[in-house]
Amino acid sequence: MFQIASEKDFLNTFRSRDRKVVEPPKGTRFPLFVRDYLAWVDPYGVRVFLVFQAPGQQRPIGIAFRRDQQGDKTLTSRLCEWCHAYGSADQIGLLTTDLDSKRRVGVNLCLDLRCGERLESTANREGRSVLDDIKALLGKMERFASEGLGLDTGLKQ
Ligand SMILES: [Zn+2]
Repeated sequence: MFQIASEKDFLNTFRSRDRKVVEPPKGTRFPLFVRDYLAWVDPYGVRVFLVFQAPGQQRPIGIAFRRDQQGDKTLTSRLCEWCHAYGSADQIGLLTTDLDSKRRVGVNLCLDLRCGERLESTANREGRSVLDDIKALLGKMERFASEGLGLDTGLKQ
């Protein structure tokens, strides 16, 4: 659980290059309390936003992803690299974000980033706690931010 005090703090979780495209989810009030992470899709369905705070971190990190439509829609089943859910091309696909003005990085994910809910329903079905899975999920988000984007996530090596 973490807290974001104001809309300014909220926007500041994102890199400056992303801030111009970020809109908080409709009806967001501050201070905002987030249980594990916050993910939402923009009204056009083009961008997916993520705000999370990995275990041990001091501050939340925001990432603005774009849903890049890619070729092969006939591929029947895809795997989300964060929650390992399988789904069709409508559910799982490449989400990309700017590394700099020339390069983008991408990862195959649930297009709505509701990985936590999927992990939770799997854990419920199997009658076990989801806590370790959520921790691992936040760790993968952190790794993408630090290794994929080179962000300072506040974790000491
Ligand atoms: Zn997922």
